[in-house]
Amino acid sequence: MPSASASSLASILLRREILELHAYHVPDSTGYVKLDAMENPYRLPRVLCDEIAEAVASVAINRYPDPAAASLKEKIRDVIGLPPEMDILLGNGSDELIQLLAMALNKPGATLLGVEPSFVMYRMIATFVGMRYVGVPLGVDFSLDLPRILVAIKREQPALVFLAYPNNPTGNLFSAEAVAQIIEASPGLVVVDEAYYAFASDSFLPRLAHYPNLLVMRTFSKLGMAGLRLGFLAGSTAWLGQLEKLRLPYNVGVLPQLVAEKLLEHHDVLLRQAEQIKLDRANLYRQLGEIAAVQVYPSEANFLLFRIANATSVFDGLKQRGVLIKNLNGGHPMLQGCLRVTVGTPEESGQFMAALQESLCHE
Ligand SMILES: *Cc1c(COP(=O)(O)O)cnc(C)c1O
Repeated sequence: MPSASASSLASILLRREILELHAYHVPDSTGYVKLDAMENPYRLPRVLCDEIAEAVASVAINRYPDPAAASLKEKIRDVIGLPPEMDILLGNGSDELIQLLAMALNKPGATLLGVEPSFVMYRMIATFVGMRYVGVPLGVDFSLDLPRILVAIKREQPALVFLAYPNNPTGNLFSAEAVAQIIEASPGLVVVDEAYYAFASDSFLPRLAHYPNLLVMRTFSKLGMAGLRLGFLAGSTAWLGQLEKLRLPYNVGVLPQLVAEKLLEHHDVLLRQAEQIKLDRANLYRQLGEIAAVQVYPSEANFLLFRIANATSVFDGLKQRGVLIKNLNGGHPMLQGCLRVTVGTPEESGQFMAALQESLCHE
């Protein structure tokens, strides 16, 4: 045994799907105008920071967190107006909840169905847990291709369906009517992923009671708490009581519980920031639309997707000028020539637009 190298051992022992995976790449963003990860660009008001610092100072970090996070859950309930008969399950980010759902529903031969292009973690996590994945292409305008999806549901009988509402990385909000038809046609569980709910005009939360096979997933990451790692599933106790069994007991730490609760006491502050971001999104959309070389897509999220010739060299040009966005060119074929920019502060958007104009001049 000692003669084998660690790398040869790893390649013998690890599952083949894991060996074949490419690690999710997060570039070093130090020093850049950071518009690559859909973060809220605004800091908290000074008084609120002081309040949080004071609360954190008296926390018993030698103790395990409240495993039920009862007080935080109560706060979330209030803030989102959860129907009384519905429950909440907390995750260390919603990524953890995608993983939990896949683990729970992955019977032998079970399928996870998503649309493409969409959030890449659905497919990646299916691979992590050894679950079969089927991706159904969106229409050319990134809308749901309902006939095609209904055929796929009939054929594949997916145990689990994920729909991001609004979708990432395209930014559009699917037709609610089409989503409803997918939920009704699905024999399995449908999860409507509302990571961008704060920037969108619609939600499936009020429709939870209509569908026994629907859960709504949300995260506070895009609203200004990306560093805390906190997401949740909302739905009936019949589902969440079962899924609770898979949740690792202390998945949400003392500090995230405490800080999130404080922040949600000032939910209005975060919502005002979201409203500002929506205004800034409209401005940025208009400015991008004025550039002849750019095709920009409508968005109900805190980012804009746009198509441009020589996308990768434009991306590099932006980076050389200190602006980091997301290059989607070379990934999914429908995203050929596509770049994604997070809506930053008006100043950051100005820096982005200036860098974009300069990059185009040097093409
Ligand atoms: C960002 C994002 C998530 C993950 O959010 P975390 O809570 O930070 O893990 C989930 N779904 C979609 C569609 C996202 O864009």
